[in-house]
Amino acid sequence: MLNPKQFAAFALMAVAATGSPAAAQLRVVATTPDLASLAREIGGSTVSATALAKPTEDPHFVDAKPSHIVTLNRADALIEGGAELELGWLPPLLENSRNAKISAGAPGRIVASQGIRMMEIPAAFDRSKGDVHAMGNPHFLIDPLNAKIIARQIASRFSQIDPKSAASYRANLARFNARLDLKVAEWQKQLAPYRGARIVTYHKDFVYFAPRFGLSIVESLEPKPGISPSPAHLASVIRKMKATNAHVILVQPFQNRRTAETVARQTGAAVLNVSQQPGARPNTGTYFDMMDNLVNTLAGALRTQ
Ligand SMILES: [Zn+2]
Repeated sequence: MLNPKQFAAFALMAVAATGSPAAAQLRVVATTPDLASLAREIGGSTVSATALAKPTEDPHFVDAKPSHIVTLNRADALIEGGAELELGWLPPLLENSRNAKISAGAPGRIVASQGIRMMEIPAAFDRSKGDVHAMGNPHFLIDPLNAKIIARQIASRFSQIDPKSAASYRANLARFNARLDLKVAEWQKQLAPYRGARIVTYHKDFVYFAPRFGLSIVESLEPKPGISPSPAHLASVIRKMKATNAHVILVQPFQNRRTAETVARQTGAAVLNVSQQPGARPNTGTYFDMMDNLVNTLAGALRTQ
């Protein structure tokens, strides 16, 4: 018989030899919280998923930290949006992380944009002007049917790098798809009364969302993605909003709400605090919660017009 002290020592040795249950999990790093949420849906208890970007950070301009390098160094898989969404901050972190498991082309490197039908691919592009959508619009995850495509890719890659849990990933994917189908029907129903409603966004970040739910984006406050609103452009937005009867402006946490409020004052529009990232708004820890919050906020504002 071991006394309690000896037992504790043996337990520690056993943990060191086999790895604790937590260490046995697949370590997944996502660039943004929406991708981390999908990783959790598909990975379940088999993976631990963290996001590099905070929910309230602009995914184009994340504040890169030394701790991100450590996180990437220990990762078994990395999920990025791709289409140059993270171009401004991810490459140097990756270079410093020196982790072959997540290097370009490795099974552990998951690029969400692969498999997505990209919108707004520019015919000509001039990065020097500050435009940040060189490869097309990278904010595709806000269309839940794109979430389905990405979830499938995640499940397939998780199965490839962790074959012993493939059945679990397959089951989680099936459950995710079934739930998403129900929720999409629910969200469609909620927004159906406002089919054709005209909305304005700060950045071009809802171009995949609007057609899915029958809404029409008449303008963005930014003249081009990543380029600050100019007075001349805002004047033209105001004219267009009045001409098209647009009464809603969507603003994410990292965007300039005061600019939106200036436009709203002159058009009688409502400025809505929304987010595409789980966790940015209260009680929105998952992709489903985030979409619920977005649809509820939008439907609520359109109802009162
Ligand atoms: Zn963008």
